[in-house]
Amino acid sequence: MPGSVPRIVMKFGGTSVGDLERIKAVAERVKKQKEAGCDVLVVVSAMAGETNKLVGYCQNLSDLHDAREYDSIVATGEQVTSGLLAIALQKLGVPSRSFAGWQVPIRTDSAHGKASLDTIDGERLLGSMAEGMVPVVAGFQGVGPDGRVTTLGRGGSDTSAVALAAAIKADRCDIYTDVDGIYTTDPRIVAKARKLEKITYEEMLELASVGAKVLQTRSVGLAMREQVRVQVLSSFVDGPAMVEGKLPGSLVVDEDEIVEKKLVTGIAYSRDEAKLSVRRIPDRPGIAAAIFGPLSEANVNVDMIVQSTGADGTTNMTFTTSKTDLPRAISTLESVRDAVQYEELATDDDVVKISVVGTGMRSHAGVAATMFRTLSERSINIQVISTSEIKVSVLLSAEYAELAVRALHTAYGLDNV
Ligand code: ADP
Ligand code: ASP
Ligand code: MG
Repeated sequence: MPGSVPRIVMKFGGTSVGDLERIKAVAERVKKQKEAGCDVLVVVSAMAGETNKLVGYCQNLSDLHDAREYDSIVATGEQVTSGLLAIALQKLGVPSRSFAGWQVPIRTDSAHGKASLDTIDGERLLGSMAEGMVPVVAGFQGVGPDGRVTTLGRGGSDTSAVALAAAIKADRCDIYTDVDGIYTTDPRIVAKARKLEKITYEEMLELASVGAKVLQTRSVGLAMREQVRVQVLSSFVDGPAMVEGKLPGSLVVDEDEIVEKKLVTGIAYSRDEAKLSVRRIPDRPGIAAAIFGPLSEANVNVDMIVQSTGADGTTNMTFTTSKTDLPRAISTLESVRDAVQYEELATDDDVVKISVVGTGMRSHAGVAATMFRTLSERSINIQVISTSEIKVSVLLSAEYAELAVRALHTAYGLDNV
């Protein structure tokens, strides 16, 4: 149980540790939090751009590279920043020690490249905190059952932070980034986006899963299950930690803590989409299993799916995957061509998925209709549609991404006017 000393996890994203000046600024911030009487555990991402660079190296050598080697390469970014921040803290007189995932240890399964967390032993970190140290843990990485380094998927440091917060029973997990909170949509593309003081776990989970990369999806699911209080805030503004009892950022909370309930809470977009159409398949039972079974075995995540059947006894299966999974999806589908007997495989990765999310949809109709009308008024063609209890998503040609998000933001009354 948390004692009288508040225990805070502070996670810093890529831009927040983007260069040595930023790392020094982060060290100052951590020092302040410690001086305010908190026990602090820090989690860091790699310097901005570093992970992309390392991923690029792997892709350059081979599209279908070995995932174990990918992990050993991309995990290095976080190792650098954890060591640098520990040095910067020591320089300020704050005792600190860096930890790689395996040193904690943060145990994961063996799904290299997108491993899931298994167990975290918080004892060593708690011991280090009890000695007055600030542990700085490399985010994004863990160790698999065979002792090899694993990584948790892009944006995975958020999940490292939430999991560590749960493991050490922290009072709060503060996610420091380059915006000062969670907005109704990406504030970088919609100037009129509004900052949300609070958002439910469920809505944030859905928004993250459809592309609002401010928090990694898994981190939100984990926070919801473990009841970790997550705050998103900026590492670029210097303000008081709390003004009139209110935290400076956005809090992710249970639904009963939300006072103002809206139909649509947020809009997200994802450019990391690719559309595949398997065309002219002889229509018979088992087609879906023959296509999606092998894809799942190849670890390809499939998202939206539509099947359309023609009058001539053939059927088309159209679905989406992430751009990263596209090469693997294509090679898998080519390998089952004889079994499935399709005539053509077409792909398009110049697409964007736009989603509107809100728990209000459970009790109110018309959200999808507003979306379709708004897009049709701008002559934007919808390629695929999918819905869930609190979300409607559409796949569009990528050129319409910003126009569509802005138009929908206005249509659902979310603009900050
Ligand atoms: P970090 O490197 O700190 O992890 P990310 O780039 O992963 O930061 O996430 C922060 C970015 O998320 C912001 O710069 C913003 O462009 C984007 N973003 C997308 N949707 C939202 C949203 N609804 N609210 C706030 N930021 C969002
Ligand atoms: N550095 C990793 C990435 O860019 C993990 C993270 O920043 O959360 O995906
Ligand atoms: Mg991130």
